[in-house]
Parts: sequence; structure tokens; C-alpha cells
Amino acid sequence: MPHTLFISDLHLAAERPQINTQFFDFIENIAPAAEALYILGDLFEYWAGDDDLNDPLNAAVAQALSTLACKNVLMYFMQGNRDLLLGEHYAARCGMQIIADPTVIDLYGSRTLLMHGDTLCTDDIEYQKFRTYARNPATQQRFLAQPLAARHQQLRGMRMQSEASKSVKSMDIMDVSSATVEQALRAHGHPRLIHGHTHRPAKHLHHVDGRNCERWVLSDWQSKAHYLRCDEQACTAI
Ligand code: MN
Repeated sequence: MPHTLFISDLHLAAERPQINTQFFDFIENIAPAAEALYILGDLFEYWAGDDDLNDPLNAAVAQALSTLACKNVLMYFMQGNRDLLLGEHYAARCGMQIIADPTVIDLYGSRTLLMHGDTLCTDDIEYQKFRTYARNPATQQRFLAQPLAARHQQLRGMRMQSEASKSVKSMDIMDVSSATVEQALRAHGHPRLIHGHTHRPAKHLHHVDGRNCERWVLSDWQSKAHYLRCDEQACTAI
């Protein structure tokens, strides 16, 4: 049956060979049967810039995705907070199209809202401040103007800081705010919502303005490959 796949939060990194293997296996054996593949952010643990193509992992991922593109699978990429600088140049090499966060699609007749998910975590004020700073074009230009080695070093420092701050934040603060979710559902015409980011895979049901909206939270790939498979009848988390 014609179907579409959704993945996010793989956090591919050279030091996590097992997840990388799962990804290449998924791209080679599972994804080719789909009509389309949506990658909803944080495909990579970090992204230093589209000029980082001598990196063996970045090159191998581009190779695998472009092979999938040749099999006529439509591929869409939404930037996450880890790979927000992944741009048109690398996307073109992969044969995928960058889509905005949020994006609404017609998924086999069902209006479906796609997000990475971090914009829903509005209780984490410190993170939202950082997000605004990191998304500022001037910040990005300053960062990308540095030599690649300096960018790598800066990202390593940021990752350590992020792990340290996550370990002292409460679990509630790092989850989505239900008020913000409801606002988004209302603003986009009560669609189904698919997002990642929180690493808390689940199917939620939101009752908004007398309408029932499904919210699918995608899983990370820590233990195995995970994806959401949707066809005209239903979505199934695998
Ligand atoms: Mn994320």
C-alpha cells in the first residue's frame, strides 16, 4: 500500500556506529518501499556547516540518501535544533528538499502538521532564549565565518553544556507545553500533528474546540530504528 515514513532524532555521530548502521540499513531496506520520507530534524548530533563534507559520516549519509532519491522516494528534511545549519547545499547532495518548521501537508487526505517539536517546549524559557539567538541570521553568519576546526570545537563545548543543563532541568520543563500544542492545533485548523525532539514516543489525543487531534511523538534511535508509517488508513509507530 502507498505509504509515507517519518523519522527524527537519530543524532547520527561518528562515535555512535550502531545508530549509523541502523540508519544505513533503514535507508537501504525499509525506506525504498515508501512514497516519501520525512526527516523531522536532529538527523545529526551536530552540524558544523554544509562545507563539512570531508567528514566520512556526512559523506556516507549523503551518498545513501541520494541513492534513495534515485529510487524515486521523495525526501523532505526539516531542521532540528542540532542540525539547524544543515542547508540547501547539503540537502541538494542528498536529493532532499528542506521544509519549514512548521509545515502542513495533505497526508492521504488528512491534514497533517509537521514540526521538529522544540518550539512546543515553551516552559523551557532558557532554551527558547537560546533558540532565538541560534536562529538569528547574524549569529549563524558569525558562526559559519569561522574555520571548520573552530566550529567543531565550539559545538563540542555547546554539547557538553547542553548535557549538563539537561541533567538539572525537570522532566516537565523539557516536555511540550499542552497549551502551546493546543494553540498550534487551533492555528493550523485542527490537524494531526507529528513531531520529534522530546524523545518521548507516544500517541496523544488532544480535544481542541470539540475536535479530536492525534499527536504522534517520534522516537529517538537509541535502542533501535524507529519510524512512523502512515498510509490512507492509519499511522503506525514501528
Ligand atoms: Mn531536537
